[in-house]
Amino acid sequence: MLIVSSKMPPQEVALGDFQFGKCIGEGSYSKVYRAISKKTNRTFAVKVISKAHIERENKQKYVNIEKDTLSVLGSHPGVVALYYTFQDLKSLYFVIDFAEHGELLSLIRRLGTLSEPLTRYYMIQLIDSLSFVHSKGIIHRDLKPENILLSHDWKLMLTDFGAAKILNKTDKQTFDAETNSSIDTYNGPYVNKGGSFVGTAEYVSPELLKYNISDYSGDIWALGCIAYQMIVGHPPFKGSDEYDTFDKIVNLQYGYPSGYFIPVVIRDFIQHLLVLKPEDRYTLDDAMHHKWFCDVNWGDSDFIWRRPTP
Ligand code: ATP
Repeated sequence: MLIVSSKMPPQEVALGDFQFGKCIGEGSYSKVYRAISKKTNRTFAVKVISKAHIERENKQKYVNIEKDTLSVLGSHPGVVALYYTFQDLKSLYFVIDFAEHGELLSLIRRLGTLSEPLTRYYMIQLIDSLSFVHSKGIIHRDLKPENILLSHDWKLMLTDFGAAKILNKTDKQTFDAETNSSIDTYNGPYVNKGGSFVGTAEYVSPELLKYNISDYSGDIWALGCIAYQMIVGHPPFKGSDEYDTFDKIVNLQYGYPSGYFIPVVIRDFIQHLLVLKPEDRYTLDDAMHHKWFCDVNWGDSDFIWRRPTP
């Protein structure tokens, strides 16, 4: 058993300390349950990972990366905290923040599109969270509305760090067009040796598709896709199949639906994120200084995280 979050004081826990409720979701190698701590009455989500399954599918790497990244990131309101891990003969258990309102994707689907104030509200939280993640030397590499959860008070929390990369201080990430090989043991979306694609196509950066390279700027590309999806209702690059989607991405082929008003300031923001060359793309610092956020004090955590949802 290991305590990893700084959101709670360390203490020993085991399976018997939780009253398990219903299954709230299923991933490729896990099931997630709502569970209440018998000691504190607090509600958590518990991710139950079958040891047999991860061994059979060779997914140990995903599980370790998720645990290692969440251990480093446990103290930010915009990142799902991992409180405890423990195991029994059959399973590994990750006790994490419970996201009462599910995925951002479900909210977008339910509302059709998000209003300008709500898009801005979530964009501010997303930029602040991603800035924290990057400041810890971590690239998420699989940002998308399914991997952004909503808490009981509708604040967002990044999750699913199974594809993340923790950069060592010595790691150098370059955008060398001659480099046509993967720079690390990447297990997020990627193009494999046979040329087929693994992952979610819509949020993948052009440099990953062209050169199989991922860096912090890949997360910023995804941020642009998410901003577009919040205000328009669907991702900017969506083809009839995956390869059509890739074609649109590498040719920067996206537009806005006619007859639907999208403020110029948002279009301008998105335009600076969806830039083909990573070196010309906005950094997070540039994003924070965009005029859409001119009244935001990025050091004011209360403004970002305690304001009521619009
Ligand atoms: P995959 O592992 O295939 O990428 P996934 O990331 O969706 O899939 P999980 O992280 O196991 O897999 O999550 C499964 C489902 O459980 C998700 O669809 C999500 O809606 C829900 N879920 C995950 N974590 C939480 C949480 N902390 N609170 C509430 N629901 C959650």
